[in-house]
Formats: sequence, structure tokens, C-alpha cells
Amino acid sequence: MSRMFDLVKQLTELTGPANYEESVQEVLRELWEDRVEELRSDPVGNLYARWGGSGRRVLIGAHADEIGLLVKSVTEDGFLWPTSGTGGSEMNPPASFNVGQRVRVVGDRATLPGTLVTVTGHVATKEQRDRGVPGWKDIFVDVGAADAGELEEAGIRPGCPIAWDVATRRVGNTIVGKAMDDRAALAVMTSLLETIPKEDLRCEVHLVSTVQEELGLVGAIPAAAEGFDAALALDVGLAGDIPPVGMDQFPARLGGGPILGYKDASVHYSREILGELAAVGQKIGVPTQPAVFLQYGSDGAAWIRHGLPAALLAFPTRYTHSPFETVNAGDLLGLRDLIGAWITREK
Ligand SMILES: [Zn+2]
Repeated sequence: MSRMFDLVKQLTELTGPANYEESVQEVLRELWEDRVEELRSDPVGNLYARWGGSGRRVLIGAHADEIGLLVKSVTEDGFLWPTSGTGGSEMNPPASFNVGQRVRVVGDRATLPGTLVTVTGHVATKEQRDRGVPGWKDIFVDVGAADAGELEEAGIRPGCPIAWDVATRRVGNTIVGKAMDDRAALAVMTSLLETIPKEDLRCEVHLVSTVQEELGLVGAIPAAAEGFDAALALDVGLAGDIPPVGMDQFPARLGGGPILGYKDASVHYSREILGELAAVGQKIGVPTQPAVFLQYGSDGAAWIRHGLPAALLAFPTRYTHSPFETVNAGDLLGLRDLIGAWITREK
């Protein structure tokens, strides 16, 4: 339990928005290198590990990138205007990015701490006070710079990422922090390597940590071209166990075990693999929660589109795409044990 928390904390606290996943891939290299037969990266930054075993070629994957903003422009006084870092447009308010959140702005030469801020209290005009939900023209970033020259020195320019700066912590029965999506899944994959002896594998197991999932499953596409027979996409699963949602809308809860995802916004996942996982879970006493997600996608959708049968296997998560994503360590251990039993079973 404690090792799982340490792995989740180590991986979620890294700054790795889309196109800046290197720090995550580097830490994974260190965690994985002594336990796998081969480690390599592809030209777009996906990290692959051939773990071991022989027979059916199985891919287990999760994504390294996290939700983030981008610098849209820099003012002469040294403030930053943000824009979306995950596709989409500015038609909607900046979603989970809110005033008061601590951030890191990653420049070409230095990373600066900052705060997402807006006009407040005494200096706000009546119109600004009445505006309600802050929009893209209300929220900006203050890094405490004296002028634009200091940002120039750090190499901060339009296109630099702005990531949340949050310490991951235990809260009651949960773990709370940013980037559970999808680093908690990378922690599960690391824990698999640390607990399952390679000799027990009954298929040829490969791991992948993909890039740019949050923009539209980008890194998953080259991974699909590697000729695997089956894949598991590990990702956050939507939980309904909070007051404004409800189990009738999202019938999965924290502590209820791994979620078997049957469908998301764009694909139906492999019934065959999901059936195998459900049966394995029953056999080893790990409860699973079947679900369908609507406003949701995973690397598994890209894999199916490119000819690789895939299942979505998720851990229940509250408040997805926020800096307070909330998970349960027991679910992560259950997910690990379920995958472990699936790749070591005699067929
Ligand atoms: Zn995700």
C-alpha cells in the first residue's frame, strides 16, 4: 500500500504536459530498466519496454502527459495570458483551471513558479465582479517578474506549457493530487514489474508510456503499428459516488475495484478481452465494475482503429481533469492484481 502511494506521488508530481513528457519517461526508464529485457523510445517520445514472456503479444499502456495550459502571450509588464493546452478552443471557460491555483511555467531555459490570478476585491470594477465564471480574458498568470525581460531570460514565450503545481497527499481513504490521469496507471504498471516474476508471464508482455493522449490519442497511433495481438489501455474511470453525480449516472465507486470500460465516446472495447478480465477478477476475488463513458476517450480507441483489439481498464477517479483528482489505493492494487493474474494465467 505504501509503495503504491510512493509511486503515485513520485509520478504525479512530475511536470509533464503534452510535448513535455520527457521527465516522466526518464523516471520510468530508471524504475523499469533493471526489470525488463529492452527499453526504447520512438521518434515522437513514446517509451516502450519489452518485459518478457512468449506467446500472444500483449501491450499494456498508459499515457505520460497531463492536462495543462499554454502561454498565449507575454505582456510588457511580465504577465502571461494562457490558452488551452489540450486542443479545443476558447469558446468554453478554462474548465478546471481556476483562480488561486499554483502553477509551473516551463520555459526553454528555466521553470518558474506562478499563480493563476484575476482582478479581485478592492480593484475589481462592478462589471468584473458581476461577470461570474472567469473566462479566458479574466485569468492570467503572475510569476512575480519585474518585467518581460525576466521571462525572456527564462525562455518563456508563446507555446510554453503551464502545469499545475500540486503536492500529492493522502486524504482519509483516498489519494488526492493532479495527473492521476494517467500517472497512477503508470504507477500500477511499475508495481506490476516490481511484484510479478518475469518467469510467470504466459504471454509476451510489452509496456508503453504514450505521449499526447490528452490532445486526441496521438502517441497511441504509432504504438499500434508494432504488431501486438491484444492491448490494455489503463486510464482514469469516471466515478459516480459524489453528491452531484450519483451512481445512477456513473455506476462505479472508489473502493469498488477496477472498472471494465465497455464503450466510450468513440469505440466499443474488445468484448473478448473484457470478458477474460471479468472472469479472472472473479477467480482471484478482485471485484470489477462494468461501465460506459460518454465524454471520454482513451489510447485504446486509437488502438482499435488501427487494428489492435483493446480493452479499457480503469481505476475509479473523482474530479477528473482537475488538480484534485481523487483515487483509492486499494483500487490501484486491485487493478495491478487483476492485470497480473491475466498475464500469468494458463490458457
Ligand atoms: Zn487519461
